[in-house]
Amino acid sequence: MTTDLVAALDIGGTKIAGALVDGRGSILVRAQRATPAQQDGETVMRAVAEVLGELAASPLWDRVAALGIGSAGPVDASAGTVSPVNVPGWRGFPLVERVRAAVGELPVELIGDGVAITAAEHWQGAARGHDNALCMVVSTGVGGGLVLNGQLYPGPTGNAGHIGHISVDLDGDLCPCGSRGCVERIASGPNIARRALDNGWLPGPDGDASAAAVAAAARAGDPVAVASFERAAQALAAGIAATATLVEIDIAVIGGGVGKAGDVLFGPLNKALASYATLSFVSRLTVVPAQMGTDAGLVGAAAAALALRADSAAAGV
Ligand SMILES: [Zn+2]
Repeated sequence: MTTDLVAALDIGGTKIAGALVDGRGSILVRAQRATPAQQDGETVMRAVAEVLGELAASPLWDRVAALGIGSAGPVDASAGTVSPVNVPGWRGFPLVERVRAAVGELPVELIGDGVAITAAEHWQGAARGHDNALCMVVSTGVGGGLVLNGQLYPGPTGNAGHIGHISVDLDGDLCPCGSRGCVERIASGPNIARRALDNGWLPGPDGDASAAAVAAAARAGDPVAVASFERAAQALAAGIAATATLVEIDIAVIGGGVGKAGDVLFGPLNKALASYATLSFVSRLTVVPAQMGTDAGLVGAAAAALALRADSAAAGV
């Protein structure tokens, strides 16, 4: 029996998606459940087990060599546990052990969702061909991951590249993480919207006060909306420049809802980057929108599983 496929799980606060994926990243089988995020931990685990059960019922399951899991964080890949902020029933939840119990002998790899999206962008998206890259998700929160020397760099616990909680404003607003002036506290969608509202921006007749509505207002020239995006762009630029200066990335990829804002984000972002990324070795740094769609988490989890399979093959397992 050839084992040329991998299974992937993408676990977030709203949905639990699963897939069987081939070596080129094509999704052959899908399963999905809503995340019962406000229920107890066992109820959430049952939804994961249902997704796995549906995948395992496929005749293709026999060809699966490994399983990759990308989960909302924080995760602890070394312990195999997850504590997603938006799933309060899971704190230090032994996800890897529980999934192993459900799937038997398969090797299982756990990574954070920011790292999973990075794996997907590096494999098939905007960071393809770049050996040193930072990929970010800017939406309700701000997450990210790193590719260094051509390889995904998840770090010991699977959280490396979590740029959202780098402080770029030393005496700035308190962040829910406990620090101050984090990139996320300034650049996430809810913070873009809050800042615009605080400064007098009024939503349109539909009452939509989301960051997407602020982006639309900015495109129409509303100065308060423009300023809110400029401030977010400034925070992102400072975080990206710091990362580039530390580890010499040559591209930063921005995905998530805010990443779809277009020129109202990328215009001021490129301008701010020029003022923060000043040393010669970071001056060629480019910032681009993400290319992977809603399957990025699944494709990235599959990439992690494929890497695991390659490691096992190299070790003669
Ligand atoms: Zn923070």
